[in-house]
Amino acid sequence: AAVPSDSPTIFDKIINKKIPSNVVYEDDKVLAFRDIAPQAPTHILIIPKVKDGLTGISKAEERHSEILGHLLYTAKLVAKQEGLDDGFRLVINDGPKGCKYRLYCRYSSLVDLDIKILVVGQSVYHLHVHLLGGRQMNWPPG
Ligand code: 5GP
Repeated sequence: AAVPSDSPTIFDKIINKKIPSNVVYEDDKVLAFRDIAPQAPTHILIIPKVKDGLTGISKAEERHSEILGHLLYTAKLVAKQEGLDDGFRLVINDGPKGCKYRLYCRYSSLVDLDIKILVVGQSVYHLHVHLLGGRQMNWPPG
């Protein structure tokens, strides 16, 4: 699992437009963009533009209350914008035990390789709310 730290993450590069992303909503405080490995027909990440120590929700302090509320309100706006009128799910994974999944990707250089990676734990230490929709969500999530 990735080691929690306050150092820059890939999301800083997305915020600064150093690497491309599919942005669906933006204001002065938050950015919402499509997840690169979607787990549902709609899978969007909503993040604060300024991390301010929020590597994850477990690091939240009183001073973060406003941005935390704004992230959730943004999630509602984006869900509406995406037409998720029949329901959706918001998820925040936190820390090493917060999440585990298999990531499949195709790597092409000289040969094509199908790569399967087991991701254990929160993988990006910059707070993000997952917005998932477009299919029936299950409980328990597993
Ligand atoms: P976590 O497990 O930390 O809650 O999830 C991090 C999420 O960020 C994963 O769903 C992963 O697919 C997504 N992600 C990681 N790197 C990138 C990237 O460079 N671009 C985009 N759009 N999503 C990313």
